[in-house]
Amino acid sequence: MSFEQLEAELLEMGQQKFRARQIFTWLHARNITDFSQMSDLSLQLRNELSERFYIEDLKVVRKLTSKTDSTLKYLYELRDNNHVETVFMEYNHGNSICVSTQVGCKMGCTFCASTIAGFRRDLTASEILSQIYTAERESGRHADSIVLMGIGEPLDNFDNVVRFLQLISDERGRKQSLRHVSVSTCGIVPRIRELADMKLGITLSVSLHSANDVRRSEIMPVNRRYDIKTLLNECREYMNKTGRRISFEYAVIEGVNDSDEDARQLHRLLSGMVCHLNLIPVNPIKERDYRSNRAKVEQFAKKLSGMGLNVTVRRTLGADIDAACGQLRREYEI
Ligand code: SAH
Repeated sequence: MSFEQLEAELLEMGQQKFRARQIFTWLHARNITDFSQMSDLSLQLRNELSERFYIEDLKVVRKLTSKTDSTLKYLYELRDNNHVETVFMEYNHGNSICVSTQVGCKMGCTFCASTIAGFRRDLTASEILSQIYTAERESGRHADSIVLMGIGEPLDNFDNVVRFLQLISDERGRKQSLRHVSVSTCGIVPRIRELADMKLGITLSVSLHSANDVRRSEIMPVNRRYDIKTLLNECREYMNKTGRRISFEYAVIEGVNDSDEDARQLHRLLSGMVCHLNLIPVNPIKERDYRSNRAKVEQFAKKLSGMGLNVTVRRTLGADIDAACGQLRREYEI
């Protein structure tokens, strides 16, 4: 519930408006999941609330801790027995949490474990929120930045994602700075436009993975609907409207998108654009024989930065616990 909805519910229950503020603080700033702990409310009100409402609280069915770094991975069970994954990572600049937005995915990217068994349903805003709140309670860590890069396509669950962004950034609750929230998309063009018009201040990440339409359509079916030119035009619009630079994600797959020609095409596509290119060594998944070799990725990065692009190689965290999205859920459900 948004703050305003909570207020309206309380008024309808014959309560005073200021109760909304107290409850919202318990939920979003104090991370409480039980009405009985809301000690500044009367016992009667606490009972009444627990009869009428519930607070989303995800069940941790598995928790993996990396032995090589401090990455944590949670497999959560939802109320309808579906599962999603959340990954907690520690960086020098702070903790980052990666959350899912859907159960499964419709997008069909060939290298991605999240989409192989198809799409089940959208997550609600509270299910997205609760992935963070539950992980924070369980681990005792605080998430400084949030990335919507887990299972699912955030812009295919637009309304719930926007609702989540509004809830988490609400000044009366968690006050999460949206500058530290990244929304990642495979490139659903009309939704990028809608997001730009909302001027939320989030960071937009666009999964590019190839600068060549034929190749991109092979590995990312969404490209058959919105090709690279259409996508890049919309990205430029996004930057004009929001003043925020875009981050492009590029999973490097040996022999698929890492040739000299790929580098040249990428350079032609992105040169002159104020953007950041993030290379990710592709995470191998059981169902495909895509491979990546860190040394070759570094070489590819060097080539691109030599051409003048602003490029980095993503650090690999939690590799020993299959921290890439979708893999644990698939293993658990099969
Ligand atoms: N659907 C959104 C967000 C979820 S995926 C999107 O497509 O952006 C988050 C990122 O991980 C995307 O860039 C996606 O392409 C990438 N990804 C998926 N599977 C991967 C794999 N096996 N190895 C490396 N990156 C992968």
